[in-house]
Amino acid sequence: PRKRVTGDTVEERLTANARERILPARYLLRDEDGGILETPAEMFERVADAVASAEDDPETWSDRFYETMTGLEFLPNSPTLMNAGGPLGQLAACFVLSPDDDLDDIFDTVRQAARVFQSGGGVGYSFSDLRPRGDVVAETGGVASGPVSFMRVYDQMCETVKAGGKRRGAQMGVLRVDHPDIGRFCVAKREEDSLENFNVSVAVTEDFWAALEADDSYEIYNPRTGDVHEVSEATAAFYNASRADADPRAVPENVWRDYGDDVVGVDEFRGDLVEVGEPMSLPARFVWRLVVDGAWRNGEPGVFEVDRANREHAFDVDTHPGHRIEATNPCGEQPLEDFEACNLGHVNLSLMAAEDAPLWSDFEHGGDLEARVEAFLAEALDVERLDRVTRWGTRFLDDVVTVSEYPLPEIRETVADRRKIGLGVMGFAELLVQLGVRYGSDASVEVADQVMARIDHVATATSRELAAERGRFPRWDESKYAHPTRYASWFRRHTGEDPEDWADGFPIRNHGVTSVAPTGTTSMIADTSGGCEPIYEVVYFKNVGRDVQGAEPLVEFDDYFLRVLAANDVDVDAVEAEAKRLLGEGEFEGAHSLSVPGEILDLFPTARDLPMEAHVRVQAAFQANVDGAVSKTINVAHDATRDDVADAYRLAVDLGCVGVTVYRAGSRTAQVLTTKPEE
Ligand code: ADP
Repeated sequence: PRKRVTGDTVEERLTANARERILPARYLLRDEDGGILETPAEMFERVADAVASAEDDPETWSDRFYETMTGLEFLPNSPTLMNAGGPLGQLAACFVLSPDDDLDDIFDTVRQAARVFQSGGGVGYSFSDLRPRGDVVAETGGVASGPVSFMRVYDQMCETVKAGGKRRGAQMGVLRVDHPDIGRFCVAKREEDSLENFNVSVAVTEDFWAALEADDSYEIYNPRTGDVHEVSEATAAFYNASRADADPRAVPENVWRDYGDDVVGVDEFRGDLVEVGEPMSLPARFVWRLVVDGAWRNGEPGVFEVDRANREHAFDVDTHPGHRIEATNPCGEQPLEDFEACNLGHVNLSLMAAEDAPLWSDFEHGGDLEARVEAFLAEALDVERLDRVTRWGTRFLDDVVTVSEYPLPEIRETVADRRKIGLGVMGFAELLVQLGVRYGSDASVEVADQVMARIDHVATATSRELAAERGRFPRWDESKYAHPTRYASWFRRHTGEDPEDWADGFPIRNHGVTSVAPTGTTSMIADTSGGCEPIYEVVYFKNVGRDVQGAEPLVEFDDYFLRVLAANDVDVDAVEAEAKRLLGEGEFEGAHSLSVPGEILDLFPTARDLPMEAHVRVQAAFQANVDGAVSKTINVAHDATRDDVADAYRLAVDLGCVGVTVYRAGSRTAQVLTTKPEE
């Protein structure tokens, strides 16, 4: 069956979970006493009106925005739904605020971030400019405490300020791989309750990859001086803690040694890794082991390809170093400049299968895959609808830039100058099931590539039309768009246009238009699979916080799974009851635990069924067609080894991903999505 949204009223179109739990708990406006002030339909009306107020013809556009949101074809990120037309008025989900190397700025940034969390946004920080632990502090004659200890301050702040009173804040901490404290950073989250309010990512450079390839060491820089770091005693004590004869009192808390030497293979690095007073370098393999070991233990740190992000940036950072990117937002889909913010929106691909779409099996024969998928999609996709939603979505997000308020003047200015937006997708996995394409297969990778390319090109064309109507983003002159022939391959990749046709410059309204977000809550409202992820499981618990779920975690069924059951005359109520019972008893071991015909289950490969390569190749296909990045988790099995985790990272990096997160099943006790009841 095709997935369609039915129901005359907005309430009828929403699932019971969305209507009765998610929207009331977090999205519907409330009065001072906590009384709910609006219905879901009124919420969409409020958002449509507020966003369309940026238009010359607000009525027409408000109707369109309302239509596309209540049709669940397009949804903006949570802060837009929560705050548009409301008292907070801050509509962006993504911010980057990076502290400078001085105490005032470190604590100013804490205050600024608190303001962002209050409005429901998430913040990424680069801590790479902070001097390392044990470095000199001239004013006090003391020693610096280093990025990781300041991160604990940020963590505590985030814990304390619940975002907008609605969700707990999300933070991303980034440190460059050539920072002296990279070791401490990599092991900082070993204990699960440490830096709980942070995702952490290592900004990995091309020099590092080259050293790793050559099994060589690479130089470590002190951000305070800009020169190669001269090893301090604190640095030496930390890195040399792996020596067999190290004084146990010198071993800092949390160091790999506590976990047994074999864990990171430090045996190979016996002897002093670094010497006090010497110029510092580290064996790339040693640092890589720390990264991989952390990811194997509990999913962190991730890897952020910082040089690649800057190469793909709309500004040439060699000639305009002020535009350099050092961090991403919390879930990784938006590399941003310091003080930049971005708002996101998502096209619901699960609704884009054509009414009479053929199945891929009709096209599955030898020959050129690209051409076959193109012919297939021409029939299988409702291209008209996809293009319309992409155009409206792009316009919606550009309007959001105009109407959003920001908690700081620096952010307001940076955003106004650049106007970055992030249009992406949700429901990709459910689209594939409808088309009979298996997630992770060659065909699915080609579908991902072609669908996202289309969205990217249509969104870019829309931004170009908006530039004609409303003007280019103010920093356009400094950007690569002003010089398409100078940056020919970049230009082709990001616009799908021939640079010769735009030799005098390509007018555009937004310096980036696309990225793929996780759509954690928005995909639940739209009742579809998240972002470009595979279906997590046909039924699972979603831990979304007590405000939404009360004592009981939400049970979420994959909507399309239920539709397929119904279409095949399976007793859906009985399967739902069985699934809830098994989940509650902790006995659910995947869809095959259910009394459902095997042929149906085969249509729904889930995150844990899929090989690592399937995850990576789909992510890479999306990445190749966005301006920003892609948020995706590469799931590996519980019994995956550290080498398997390393392979996943390497493959993702080799295939061009900008941000990579690997998660080994069951490696955290608390998971957002799970099939096990809470302990
Ligand atoms: P949603 O579906 O709620 O709109 P996503 O899961 O798509 O959000 O995440 C998009 C971005 O929103 C993240 O990268 C992050 O910047 C921000 N974000 C997500 N969850 C939170 C949170 N709990 N608090 C603050 N910001 C968040």
